[in-house]
Amino acid sequence: MHEWALAESILSTVLEAAEKEKLKTIAEIKIGIGELQQIEQDIFEFALNEIIKSHGKKLKNVKISIETEESTLKCKICEHTWKFSDMKKKLNEDESEAIHFIPEVAFVHTRCPKCGSPDFEITTGRGVSIISIKGKR
Ligand SMILES: [Zn+2]
Repeated sequence: MHEWALAESILSTVLEAAEKEKLKTIAEIKIGIGELQQIEQDIFEFALNEIIKSHGKKLKNVKISIETEESTLKCKICEHTWKFSDMKKKLNEDESEAIHFIPEVAFVHTRCPKCGSPDFEITTGRGVSIISIKGKR
């Protein structure tokens, strides 16, 4: 399951950063999940907590907060940018549901609101990122 792989990679990145910053304990990790990232947040959080248990001291009392990052799209033709959330409002419920499960579907239904081109890219809100790490030296 990719939630576990994501949790693993997030935590190993956090531990590496902590090593560099010479942090003895990590108090808080803030994680951003893009709107267009396919992830089961419950499973992801469960995975994080399970992995943390096996990592002992450094992560013992860590607080994890997860934020959803808004997705932004950009037209490759006219460079107009718009938000995925605006686009979602225009779709009917079935389509919006489909996009929730398969972000790729977004491409099929989307045209640039300005010039009508179907050629665009997702500039933010895709993937999982570490927003901040707090800890003590
Ligand atoms: Zn355009």
